[in-house]
Amino acid sequence: MDAEQLREHGHKMVDFIADYYKTIQNFPVLSQVQPGYLEKLLPDSAPDYPESLQNVLDDVKEKILPGVTHWQSPNYFAYFPANSSIAGFLGEMLSAGLNIVGFSWITSPAATELESIVLDWLAKAFQLPEDFYSSGKGGGVIQGTASEAVLVVLLAARDNILRRLGRSALPKLVMYASDQTHSALQKACQIAGLNPELCKFLKADSSTNYALSPEVLSEAISNDIAGGLVPFFLCATVGTTSSAAIDPLPALGKIAKTNNLWFHVDAAYAGSACICPEYRHCFDGIEESDSFNMNAHKWFLTNFDCSVLWVKDRNSLIQSLSTNPEYLKNKASQRNMVVDYKDWQIPLGRRFRSLKLWMVLRLYGLEGLRSYVRNHIELAAYFEELVSQDKRFKVIAPRTFSLVCFRLLSPLNSEDHGNKLNRDLLDSVNSTGNIFITHTVLSGEYILRFAVGAPLTERRHVTMAWQIFQDKATALLESL
Ligand code: PLP
Repeated sequence: MDAEQLREHGHKMVDFIADYYKTIQNFPVLSQVQPGYLEKLLPDSAPDYPESLQNVLDDVKEKILPGVTHWQSPNYFAYFPANSSIAGFLGEMLSAGLNIVGFSWITSPAATELESIVLDWLAKAFQLPEDFYSSGKGGGVIQGTASEAVLVVLLAARDNILRRLGRSALPKLVMYASDQTHSALQKACQIAGLNPELCKFLKADSSTNYALSPEVLSEAISNDIAGGLVPFFLCATVGTTSSAAIDPLPALGKIAKTNNLWFHVDAAYAGSACICPEYRHCFDGIEESDSFNMNAHKWFLTNFDCSVLWVKDRNSLIQSLSTNPEYLKNKASQRNMVVDYKDWQIPLGRRFRSLKLWMVLRLYGLEGLRSYVRNHIELAAYFEELVSQDKRFKVIAPRTFSLVCFRLLSPLNSEDHGNKLNRDLLDSVNSTGNIFITHTVLSGEYILRFAVGAPLTERRHVTMAWQIFQDKATALLESL
């Protein structure tokens, strides 16, 4: 690495990215290219000799950017957000610059220690129970994604119970969650080798915005125990993907405790709101959980990827995931003096991801982060108000955070027609390129999801988005 060349090219790249952000609103938010577009534009083999950076950047502009969906656009309202910020970006840059592989403490002590410290800071800011702090038996670890987080805790829970009952109990283990739980859990169950029929995604209660009912859970557990099965794991969600439903943690936690279940709470999206005292009550009951996960890379200004997982008993993770090959042995690890995060995750290698979270916490401060989250929730409330004022539309599920679920009502009063109408509205709105939203289905109804959370989104973008919905709805209704 030639330091002067890095300086020159680095400046050029930062300029390129800064210009991208300056003009981001000029791009269609949802990429409008067709599958296979890029093969037609790029040569079919790598160059034999070096090219200039300028040539590559020209190609990025002409050939790559048209195939990019602009998640950082202020007009991005799809799925859930994936935040970028200057702090997060600079942290990523620093991490790429140092480029360490911090699987064991010795491979970069600062990487391990900063991660533990920053996750203790965040646990404190979220008012998590002290059992999650690294000073006790628990601790935090940064995973790549919420999918990895739920997988590692599921493996830890599975192995805990199998150590007690023997491996022959595996086909009898029962996992519980609501049918609104993210599909990441289903994938984790498949990887963990659980009996698919005993992965029970219980029907959520439509009268409580699709939360998991404690009564339904209790009944399922009682039946399973009576049938000779072994309940072992419960996953609750704060902020489900479809409608941001909040599972009732206090009641679910009690059931989990009574029945000796590992209780995991997935707050991949909504976890960021835990930082605001006025939303902390949504997480009450977290005290009963064994593990808690939120994605700082969703709505917490930390560039992808940074999924934060806390556990109360780190030894459970370590017992499931540790290996001790000769080539990784070192004094600090052998003497049990240090954390080796390789034993808390699936891969061996790990990036210095805590740098970007540390930078976000320091450059925004907790108050800055609170204002950030509150602002998006206020913008979502504003959008919800706009929808409610237009009698042609209906807000479908009560809104707590920054997701609004709504629907254009069919004048034909038919569910099939209503679904087609809303599908057409979504396509019509997205084809403008001016905004991007996605959908879900709740109780058979096709629902539009408007998720506020891009860092550049302001009130005027929400107003403009609503205008597009209204105009497209008018055109669709007139064409009936
Ligand atoms: N859990 C919830 C509630 C989510 O909304 C998502 C993604 O949107 C996930 C889990 C999966 O996230 P990841 O992509 O980090 O695995």
